[in-house]
Amino acid sequence: MLPYATAAEAEAALGRVMTRAESAWFRYSAAVPDHLLFCHTVAILLLVYTLAALPLSLLELTTSTPTYKLQPRTRPTPSILIRSYLHSARALLLSGGVLSLFSYPTVKLLRIRAGLPLPSAGELAAQLAVYQLVNDYAGYWFHRLLHTPWAYQHVHRVHHRFNAPFALAAPYAHWTDVLFLGVAAMAGPALVPCHMITLWLWFLVFQLVLVETHCGFDFPFNPTKLIPFYGGAEHHDYHHLVGEKSRSNFAPVFTYCDYLYGTDKGYKYHKASQAKLTKEKSENNVEKGRSSSKINSGKQK
Ligand SMILES: [Zn+2]
Ligand SMILES: [Zn+2]
Repeated sequence: MLPYATAAEAEAALGRVMTRAESAWFRYSAAVPDHLLFCHTVAILLLVYTLAALPLSLLELTTSTPTYKLQPRTRPTPSILIRSYLHSARALLLSGGVLSLFSYPTVKLLRIRAGLPLPSAGELAAQLAVYQLVNDYAGYWFHRLLHTPWAYQHVHRVHHRFNAPFALAAPYAHWTDVLFLGVAAMAGPALVPCHMITLWLWFLVFQLVLVETHCGFDFPFNPTKLIPFYGGAEHHDYHHLVGEKSRSNFAPVFTYCDYLYGTDKGYKYHKASQAKLTKEKSENNVEKGRSSSKINSGKQK
């Protein structure tokens, strides 16, 4: 809730005219208590998850052999897709909802503000970049912890139910797993406090990346391919393919943690084997082509 009764009061306090974005924020948030603004986070997570995952799920269902599918032989049925959505939405609402209701004092303590002025575009971009890196590092170590025998059997096994992940299964997890994800996501804003709008944008990016890395498609035109050290769907797909025994690809977003801590060996071996297999296949095809053309030219003589 803003401490100004009118826009004129807000502009007097700022010492300048409000920007368009600030005027919109003033109209929206002036009378809304800060803890209710923070509760918007769960709605944003659910909305982004639904809007990003649904088109990818339709693609799964409507094409018989979708191009760019990482594991084309393993396809989710419509009932699996619906059950995954209901399970994930419930986990999001319960874990996220309860967490946002009770964690507001912590958010206040972390100095996340909802007032004016709004952050500049540069500040916003720098904070989002820091949050992504911090989340990746914390997420890497939480994920390794979740692959210890007890934590895997009691918690992380739920997320690994699908060896071939799909977009709607992105947040499919035990509530403790969702809690770990939330703590890793909040580690950045805890270190570098931000505005509520930055926090909402951060959770929007966070959820988009989560859906993208679990979507099971490797689109060649995906703009994330331009981001250095970005793991993407192919990187995380391998982690799910191996499942419980996986000792590879723990980082949620980038590849540098797995490289630094030597947890990319299985993935590298898998990629090298695939490349060798593809090369052998193409050589065999060339050889077959030569043999059949020799036979044909022999017949003609
Ligand atoms: Zn895992
Ligand atoms: Zn996963």
